[in-house]
Amino acid sequence: MGIVASVLKKFHGGVHPPGHKDLSEHCAIEPMPLPKRLVVPFHQHLGAPSEPVVKVGDTVFKGDLLGGAAGGISATVHAPTSGTIVAIEEHVVGHPSGLTMLCAIIEPDGKDQWNPQLKGVDNPLSLEPVAVRDLVKNAGVVGLGGATFPSFVKLSPPRDKVVDLLLINAVECEPYLTCDARLMEERPKDVIEGIRIMLHALQTKECVIGIEDNKPKAIAAMQNAVAAEASQSAAAIRVVVLPVMYPQGSEKQLIEVVTGRQVPSRKLPIDIGVIVHNVATAVAVRDAVCFGHPLVSRIVTVTGKGINRPANIEVLIGTQVDDIIAHCGGLKPDIHKVVMGGPMMGLALHQTNVPVVKGCSGILALTRGESSEKPEHSCIRCGSCVNACPIQLVPCSMAWFAKTEQLDQLSKADLFDCIECGSCAYVCPANVPLVHYFRYGKLALQSKDREEKKRELTIQRSKLREERLAREKEEKERKKEEMKAKMAAKKKSGKEADKQNPAAESGNEAQA
Ligand code: SF4
Ligand code: SF4
Repeated sequence: MGIVASVLKKFHGGVHPPGHKDLSEHCAIEPMPLPKRLVVPFHQHLGAPSEPVVKVGDTVFKGDLLGGAAGGISATVHAPTSGTIVAIEEHVVGHPSGLTMLCAIIEPDGKDQWNPQLKGVDNPLSLEPVAVRDLVKNAGVVGLGGATFPSFVKLSPPRDKVVDLLLINAVECEPYLTCDARLMEERPKDVIEGIRIMLHALQTKECVIGIEDNKPKAIAAMQNAVAAEASQSAAAIRVVVLPVMYPQGSEKQLIEVVTGRQVPSRKLPIDIGVIVHNVATAVAVRDAVCFGHPLVSRIVTVTGKGINRPANIEVLIGTQVDDIIAHCGGLKPDIHKVVMGGPMMGLALHQTNVPVVKGCSGILALTRGESSEKPEHSCIRCGSCVNACPIQLVPCSMAWFAKTEQLDQLSKADLFDCIECGSCAYVCPANVPLVHYFRYGKLALQSKDREEKKRELTIQRSKLREERLAREKEEKERKKEEMKAKMAAKKKSGKEADKQNPAAESGNEAQA
């Protein structure tokens, strides 16, 4: 079968953290009641922030455009429910910097009414591929696995690239999270429908759905759905069951396991003929094309021993974490921290009045027993982090260069290849907060890069200024010389005229 390896490969490194999926894997997806207020950030995706197209006081339908995409890599943002825009202001969001972001604050009218003009397409496979991509673009669909890369870009491969395989990432390798597993169990036909639309947009005939073997119900549901749909299309879709390994859900690692091919450093999956989309993204594409519904909600796993009622909830984008916690019965007294996302790559929240965004797959309420933070010791050069790194980096050295601000050394260490999976920190016996150092190092290198570019720009500007001044001086000199020459020529021509007309000269003298 083409590009897919006959035997599954294993990627370098990886770890086996405890799964904790039993807390929520039995929880069917439930809708969350409308909150009193929604806080919708204009920047929820990779790329340029969307630009507001609404103003305070506007009333909106569910699905109306709030922010237009700005530039090539950007995504639109839509109203998650019907209601009134009561403010457009900076609001705290779930970001490591703790910074605020421009958000539209919506007061729901309680009707949750879609814009009646939003219409789907009856037969999406009859559309031109470019029309499918436009529908996905206009619906603001982004990668729902956490990367939030605008999906239409990954459905529009460059003309000189051939896509051999659509790889659906249904791995959900982060501990605790079960939202993708529940989606596959409960809506397998929708997943297949989304995959067929994506295959059509990519003009590709082969698709693999990669699922780890700790989700037997999801595997069975998807296998049944694939078998039921097999006769309806020439495209080959199959489920590939993978052994559990973290971070197998990382794009490049999943590609290596399924195809046996490595995506070279600084290259993209498309460079080896593969496009990867998350399984929930497939359903969002289906909803956008078949119903004309923009991406305004997502399924979130709310779990951890610190929450009273674990759940999988379909949440409107912009719902605040506080409201979700209250809906799930509140926090237990021994709560230690609340994390947005999974425990390996998620973000510990400083405050819980932040909104759910498109890339948020989980809210974890962790007790002290689940997330004890041990004191950092000095690195003992044991090499465990090197063995665990799926990218074959040297985490201990990178952390040292970042900690001691040796930015020249750090820039040579391929830090930007680090996917911040946390495998190295997970195995470190000295509890070195390696990912923390990498995030700091990346920011430091980016700011150094910006400073260098600024310096280069200043040098370039001053050089241009000097050149301009020199040109102006030259021009002045030239004009002065020209003027002199003109005056000399005038004087000379005056004298010659006098010589040719002595009477005039004598007349002049007489008059004088
Ligand atoms: S966080 Fe970075 S350095 Fe550490 S294991 Fe993951 S990719 Fe490697
Ligand atoms: S695992 Fe920790 S202690 Fe061991 S080499 Fe890496 S950073 Fe040092």
